Amino acid sequence: MEFFDVIIIGAGPSGSVAAAYLHNQEKKVLVLEKELFPRFVIGESLLPNCMNHLEESGLLEVVKKDNFQIKTGAIFHAGKDKCAFEFSDQYSEGWTWTWQVKRADFDKILIDEVQRKGVDVQFNCEVVEVKLENDYQIVSYKKPSGELKSVKSKFVMDASGYGRVLPRLFQLDQPSDLIPRGAVFTHLIDTRRTEKAGNNIFVHSFNNNAAWLWAIPFSDGTTSIGVVGENSYVASMYANNAREFRKLFDTFEELKGRFTDAKFLFEPKIIRGYSIGVKQMFGNGYVLCGNATEFLDPIFSSGVTLATASGLLAAKMVNEQLNGKKVNWELDYENVLKEGIEVFRSYVNAWYNGDLQSIIFSDNIQSDFKQQICSVLAGYIWDNNNPFVKKHGTILRTLAKVIKLNKTRRQY
Ligand code: FAD
Repeated sequence: MEFFDVIIIGAGPSGSVAAAYLHNQEKKVLVLEKELFPRFVIGESLLPNCMNHLEESGLLEVVKKDNFQIKTGAIFHAGKDKCAFEFSDQYSEGWTWTWQVKRADFDKILIDEVQRKGVDVQFNCEVVEVKLENDYQIVSYKKPSGELKSVKSKFVMDASGYGRVLPRLFQLDQPSDLIPRGAVFTHLIDTRRTEKAGNNIFVHSFNNNAAWLWAIPFSDGTTSIGVVGENSYVASMYANNAREFRKLFDTFEELKGRFTDAKFLFEPKIIRGYSIGVKQMFGNGYVLCGNATEFLDPIFSSGVTLATASGLLAAKMVNEQLNGKKVNWELDYENVLKEGIEVFRSYVNAWYNGDLQSIIFSDNIQSDFKQQICSVLAGYIWDNNNPFVKKHGTILRTLAKVIKLNKTRRQY
C-alpha cells in the first residue's frame, strides 16, 4: 500500500492551498478529487483576505497571470438605498482588491499549479472510506475504472467541500441554527453592462430582507446572477423552467433591461440546504477544512476565503505535528476558525434581521464605522483591533438601535 505523509480529499481552493503549502514543506502529499477538472462550483466573488492565503501557499502568481475580473469592493442596494464599499477605504491593513472568478477556471488553475509543483493529484477518484488507526490512516477510493484502491497516510485532511466526506463517514454533521435557505443561479452573456454599473459584485436586498439577488460580472463579458431566499421562495423562483427567476431582475430599477432576454450559458440551477455545522473539526489523524467544516450563508462571499484560511492554517499545523511538535488542535485551529465563523454569523443574522441594512443605508454613517465594517467584508475577521470584529455580537444590534431611534426622533 502506498504511504503518504498527508492525503487531502478534494481539489477545491481549500485542498489546493493545503497541498501547495505542505509540498513546499517537503511533505509527500496525495490529493484525491472526485471530479474531472474543470468542474462547476458556485462561489465566485472572492474577498481580499484570501490573497494572503494564496500568496503564502505560493499560488498567487499563477492566478495573477490569468485575466480574472478585478474586484475592488461591493455595492449593496435595498429599494432606493445604496451603499458602496471600496476595499481601499478600510480599517485593517491588507489587500485592497481581489477577483471575481469562474470557479471552474480558478480552481483548475490552482490545482494545475499544485500538480506542476510535483504533488500527486488523482482526478475522478472518489473517496468512499477512511479508517483511522493509531499511527496511520487508510483511505479507500474508487478509481476511474470503478476499482477500489486503498492508500495510507500519517494524516488526512478533508477539503471535500459540499461532499463533506468525513462529517458523513464519522457522523459529525450538526444542523445549522440559520433558517434553511437556497439559491437559484446561472451565468449569462451581459452585453448591456454599462460603465456606471461597474464591475464589482452587486447585491440587492428585498422582500423585507428575506431575499437578495446578486450580479457578479466576469472579465469575459459574462455575468453570474442569482437569488437567495428561504427554501419555499427559491422553489417558486425555480419552478416552471425558472419562469419567475427570469423575470426577477427586471423588477429592480438599477438592473431593469440589463438582463432582459440575455442568453443564459446554462439552465438555472438550484441549491438548497447548504447551511450546515459540524460537531468537531479535528480528531486523531484528521482535520476538516473549508466547507467540510461549517458553512453559513453566501451573503458576504466568505466561503472561499474561509476555505483558504482554514486550508492554510490546518496545513501549517499538520506540518508541525509531522515534524514532531506538539500542536493544540482545539485551541489553535478549531477555536480560531470558529472565532472567524462567529463574526460572519453575527453579520449574516444582522443582514436577515435588517440591522446591517439600517446601518449601511443610514444617511450619516460615520466614516470610521464604515471602514471597520468594510474590513469585515474584506475578510479581515481575525483583526481584534477592529471593534466591528471584537464586539461583533453586540455592536451591530446596538448601532442599528441608535440609528433607528435617531431617525424616529428626527421625524417628530
Ligand atoms: P469545494 O470548492 O466545494 O471543493 C471541494 C472538492 O472536493 C470538490 O472539487 C469536490 O468534487 C471534491 N469532493 C467531494 N467529495 C469528494 C470525495 N468523496 N472524494 C474526493 N473528492 C471529493 N463563496 C465565496 O467565496 N464567494 C461567493 O461569492 C460565494 N457564493 C456562493 C453562493 C452560493 C449560492 C453558495 C451556496 C455558496 C457560495 N460560496 C461563495 C461558498 C463556496 O461555494 C464555498 O465556500 C467554497 O467553494 C468552498 O471551497 P472548498 O475548497 O471548501 O470546497
